[in-house]
Parts: sequence; C-alpha cells; structure tokens
Amino acid sequence: MSVRPSLPPATTVVRRDVHHLQVGTDPGVLVRDRPGLVGLLRLLDGVRDVPQLAALAGPEIAGDVPSVVTELLARGALVDARPPVRARLDIAVHCDAPTQRLAETVRTALHELDLAPAGRSGPRLYVHLSTGEPARSDIQPLAATGQAHLLISTAGPRVRVGPLVVPGVSPCLTCLDLGQRDEDPTWPVVVAQSEGPPIATGPAGIAPTARWAVAATVTRDVRALVSGRRPRSAGAVLRLGPDGDHEDSRPVTFHHGCGCWLLGAP
Ligand SMILES: [Zn+2]
Repeated sequence: MSVRPSLPPATTVVRRDVHHLQVGTDPGVLVRDRPGLVGLLRLLDGVRDVPQLAALAGPEIAGDVPSVVTELLARGALVDARPPVRARLDIAVHCDAPTQRLAETVRTALHELDLAPAGRSGPRLYVHLSTGEPARSDIQPLAATGQAHLLISTAGPRVRVGPLVVPGVSPCLTCLDLGQRDEDPTWPVVVAQSEGPPIATGPAGIAPTARWAVAATVTRDVRALVSGRRPRSAGAVLRLGPDGDHEDSRPVTFHHGCGCWLLGAP
C-alpha cells in the first residue's frame, strides 16, 4: 500500500504571513505558500494516496504533488497515515476485592492500546493487582513457567507499579525479596504473611487521579514492551503518590541467590 499523507494528528494549519503557512504551532513547520497548496492540504485525509491527491488537486500544483508531499513528509509537516501493524499480546488482569476498581481502570486504559489477540502460543502478560504485598505463591509459578507479569500493589493511598518481570530478561520478585532481605533481615517475616489474611485491612482508598495515573503508567509500559523497548517498570518499582504523582523509582537487580536469570541463558 502506498503512502497515505495526512496532517499530523491534532494539528492545525495557520497562515504565518502573506508568503508562508505554518503546520502546527508548537513550534510548527514553516511552509512556503504557493498556488494550490491550501487546497491540497485540505485534501489530506489520510485515506487518499498520492496519485488520488494529484488527480483531485488544482491544476497549479497537480503535477508537483509527489514532490510536495515528499518534502512535507521529510520535514515532519505531514505523516503517513497507513495503519501500523497491530502488536500481538494477550493480557490477563487479576485483582483482589479492594483493588477491583483500580483493575477496571487499568483494563479500560489497556483496551485503548488495541492489541491484537496473540493466539494460543503467543505472548501473554499477567497483570496482578493486590492490596499490600502479593502472595508469593501466586507469583512464583508465573516466573517459574516463564510467564511475563507485571505487579501492582497498593500501599495506603500510594500504588507501586513493578517490577514488570520477563523471566530471564528482567529481575523477578524473588530477586527483589532477596535484595530487600539483605537490607532488612525481617523482610522474609513480612513477606511470609502475604500468604494468609492480614491482621487487619483498611478501607480501599485510591483516589481517581492515582487510579488513572497507574493506568497511564501501565499502558505506557505495555506499549514499550510490545514495541521492543524497555519498560520503566522492568527492573524497577515505581511508586505513585495519592495524587498520581510519580514519587520515586527503586531499582530491582538480579540477585545472586535467585536463579531466574538462567531462564534467559542461551
Ligand atoms: Zn529472580
């Protein structure tokens, strides 16, 4: 399929002066005006290809449409509106009762990514939401079977996003636990209690701004994952504050006591 030129999304064309137009305003691309150019720009709907545009353009510019479009594409004043190939990924979102609303917001945002079904043997990502620490017995089988997973946990009005674990590629929750145990010998005692009901649980209290900030963070990282870029929550735990602000990011590194890195060995 040949190029389908369009103005960049959400971009306006304005007149800069009697001889120039400007595509976009921040900062915008200056384009020398010429007879027929305004009419051509109005024809750019991202559906017509260059020959169709040339056939519809005014006679003053019709013969130059290929070169004009090529130049404007090169300068960023136009984009190719052909739909990209949809990335393939199946996402399963699991949550407990208090994180249901947060999970629903995350699902809604992930739906906007318009990912294609991966099929039976295609890539799959488990998104696991928990109130407080996730039960290690829920997560360890995912790591052991090579399933990619992203952990989200609430901590009071704050939410932690990460680590996003691609077994053998990015450090796992056991790596995190062992690293934390090195700093705090009582950490295993705390973690062990994630297997059963806590002594007490406060009411669910994630503000809407924080919920949408979590959803945006997850969506951005999943987009990075399917694009082959490193998600920010791979090898890190991001902490979002009560208003959705990004408060800090704590690195998670492979721990010598955990053999998960072997899953990525050739
Ligand atoms: Zn590990």
